[in-house]
Amino acid sequence: MALLPIAILSILGLAWWMGWGVLRVLVVIFIVWIVVLVLMLAAPAAEIRATTGFDARVWVIGGLVLGVTLAYGALVERARAAVKRRWGIEDAPGLAPAGRGAAGLAAGQGQGLAAGQGLGGDDALDRYARHIVLREIGGPGQAKLRDARVLLIGAGGLGAPAALYLAGAGVGRITLADPDTVSISNLQRQIIYRTGDAGRPKGLAAAEALRALNPLIEVHALRRRVNAADTALIAEHDLVLDGSDQFADRAAINAACVAAGVPLIAGSIAQWEGQLTTYDPAHGAPCMACIFPKAPAAGLAPACAEAGVAGPLPGIIGSMMALEAVKRIAGAGKGLAGQMLIFDGLYGETRRIAIHRNPDCPVCSGLEQRAPEA
Ligand SMILES: [Zn+2]
Repeated sequence: MALLPIAILSILGLAWWMGWGVLRVLVVIFIVWIVVLVLMLAAPAAEIRATTGFDARVWVIGGLVLGVTLAYGALVERARAAVKRRWGIEDAPGLAPAGRGAAGLAAGQGQGLAAGQGLGGDDALDRYARHIVLREIGGPGQAKLRDARVLLIGAGGLGAPAALYLAGAGVGRITLADPDTVSISNLQRQIIYRTGDAGRPKGLAAAEALRALNPLIEVHALRRRVNAADTALIAEHDLVLDGSDQFADRAAINAACVAAGVPLIAGSIAQWEGQLTTYDPAHGAPCMACIFPKAPAAGLAPACAEAGVAGPLPGIIGSMMALEAVKRIAGAGKGLAGQMLIFDGLYGETRRIAIHRNPDCPVCSGLEQRAPEA
């Protein structure tokens, strides 16, 4: 009965070649077992034993053991499928990012990561488990995060924590834009960098940190400012986070976001105080120019370099920007459109003020209003 080991070895070889799972291998062996059993029953048992020295009873018992193993494997497989359905994930590898073209970004220093390759859905399930159990996010919200494209402008004090949290949260495509290089004086608050990054372009160093944090996402870096003419770049994204610190840059980014119809989560900080809001005139909320139509007088709004800033403050405001982004993408809770949140770090106070569209706003007036978003 040398045929039997040869048959089993052939099946195992075929399984390895085709990349079969254990369950499928067992099923094939089971089919072979049934065929042999039928052949045995067809021929007189004594004759088989005489010619091959093989007992049909041993064959039957072996088959029963195999059958029980198979049934157990099928049960486990079913339970796993039920768990995945329960969290709204059709096929778990779906939590790895969908392959997207990086057209238009390649011109910058875009470096797409062939994300998720070789990493099964179980990695994503494990990685995002704390989101998936949240009622407001769950499997569907996590899938929306995977499909989201976020442009993060400024990889500084606000951008550093925001980028880390967005990458950790599994935002599928993150584009970082920053013209600067890392300096030692940045490290007091820009926690995405290490001392060894000093002198490197911020976008590249930050993108490297994000890829190390989450290889399932795609990260692109642009070593330049984003200006009012960048509507095409902005239109490639679902959401923009602005953590830049010059009024002229912020005004230009606002104008480009209004033109592209993309909502803008903007944070700003000075010394001990920070503020953030979501500008979204397409859905009834004001744009930045509705609230700040003119640049502040010189000296009234000094940059961090002159006025100083408490290190953890941008960490708080930048993390809140990431939180607003995650909520907005996943459709959880209520965002800060039409509300400005102000945080006073020196006294640990927060307050919120309502902000409104200016009908005569030079940037967003005349914009047709879409249905307000819930
Ligand atoms: Zn406006």
